[in-house]
Amino acid sequence: MLLIAAACQTPARVTASAAASSETPWISAHLERAQQSLGAFGLVLGPGATTVVVHDTTASFVAATGHDEPALRAWTTWSTVHLLHPRLWGDDSDAVRTKRLTHELCHAALLHAFADEQAARTAELPRFFTEGACSVVAGQARVSLDKVLARADDDLPLTIDWFVKDPDVAYGAAHALATALVHEHGPGVFAQVMASAARDGRAGCVERAALTLAGAPDVPAWWRRVVDSAGRAP
Ligand SMILES: [Zn+2]
Repeated sequence: MLLIAAACQTPARVTASAAASSETPWISAHLERAQQSLGAFGLVLGPGATTVVVHDTTASFVAATGHDEPALRAWTTWSTVHLLHPRLWGDDSDAVRTKRLTHELCHAALLHAFADEQAARTAELPRFFTEGACSVVAGQARVSLDKVLARADDDLPLTIDWFVKDPDVAYGAAHALATALVHEHGPGVFAQVMASAARDGRAGCVERAALTLAGAPDVPAWWRRVVDSAGRAP
């Protein structure tokens, strides 16, 4: 059912079960690139191993993650990256594989800003921040801001509701917000927000740290500013 494919640290090391040996080479190649991208943004994986598990079937992936959103190709927890097998992705080119692994390892690195898994849970990381950061770190193409605004109408497209009902819009909006953060504060901004949040540690600390750095009173106001500064009507 599961292929335990890789554990990831610096430098990347790979362990594989006998059944997984055919999966190991491609994952190893992408892990190294992924870690370089994380490093460029000042993000690091924690000292414990991060395991990449490749699921041969959608049923196995859903059973392991508890998530059945059709667009989902991967899900990352504190210690494990669950990947649907690339042949089930639709597009599994070399570049897409690297970007997806980079995105997922970025999720792990953001969690690892906290002392342990429980602390990361308590913090309640906002999805719009983590998806935006990981999307930018991985260099993934997203729906343009114009399309986001056209489809979201006047609604705030960064809520959990939007990630469920129209992931393209939510990811596009999160990407635009994260891109603006990097433009204003440099590539170390995600690590900076997480370090500040970890010092706080209470529920909502990541959102508070990001808003403080952005100089915005709340997420809707921050979003309006990003839209305005891009020269678009809100
Ligand atoms: Zn993600």
